[in-house]
Amino acid sequence: MLKFAISLLAVLSCAAMAQAQEPKRAVTQIKGDVYRLQNNFHFSIFVVTKDGVIVTDPINSDAATFLKSEIAKLTNAPVTHLIYSHSHGDHASGGAEFADTATVIAQQNAPEQIDGVRPTIRFSDKMQFEHGGKSIELTALGSGHGQDLIAMVIRPENVAFVVDAVSVNRLPFRNFPGTDVAGVIQQIKTVEALDFEILAPGHGSMGTKADATVHREYVEGLMEAVKSGLKSGNSVDQLVENLDLSKYAEWGSYNQWREPNIRGMASWLEKSGAL
Ligand SMILES: [Zn+2]
Repeated sequence: MLKFAISLLAVLSCAAMAQAQEPKRAVTQIKGDVYRLQNNFHFSIFVVTKDGVIVTDPINSDAATFLKSEIAKLTNAPVTHLIYSHSHGDHASGGAEFADTATVIAQQNAPEQIDGVRPTIRFSDKMQFEHGGKSIELTALGSGHGQDLIAMVIRPENVAFVVDAVSVNRLPFRNFPGTDVAGVIQQIKTVEALDFEILAPGHGSMGTKADATVHREYVEGLMEAVKSGLKSGNSVDQLVENLDLSKYAEWGSYNQWREPNIRGMASWLEKSGAL
């Protein structure tokens, strides 16, 4: 009986491993001709028009191959544009899949090549173009999360694609790695000033423009709380112990990222001289 239990356990854990290795990939319609690609915890959007398909972050080569086959189910039109949200490798890898047919667009500060793909159009502040009955509005978000992050708004659907600077009812990523937190607050304010309704972030749930505001208020509130806690003599450990963020207890990643958020904010405040 014991032997049976052990072998059954071995079979079950093999099945669990196989499942863990199989990435979750899906395409869903957001609104009208705007679709969302999921590859595990990463998301991008694409737009199907009669004059060609506009894709954004390919995420990685396997996700890009999957995306190409999903696009072929929706249209015979080629991919005419590849627009990078920013150059971080976890979102921007795999673009070679589309580079043969696409005009490649990135913000001015992006590196010369993004995973081997050379952007053909760069812009500094804003860029807008019409394609197949859609209006595509690109806005540089300045420095904060990276140096080359942009927001993209598609009309008439009024969908905004914004990666990493903002998420919907989910804590910011871990301890703000490599992030200028004050810059991120400015980036979110720039997003809030854009005209759109639906927010499609690069991670987590879909939302609306109001979610960007709520996310900024979280970051600003955390900054103020950690700053005043440190100024009144608390150690970072004491803040981790005592800081009341229970208002956000229902948010995604609250249990995992509450502590790294506090520690990351404290170390950013110290390093940036904002204390
Ligand atoms: Zn990033």
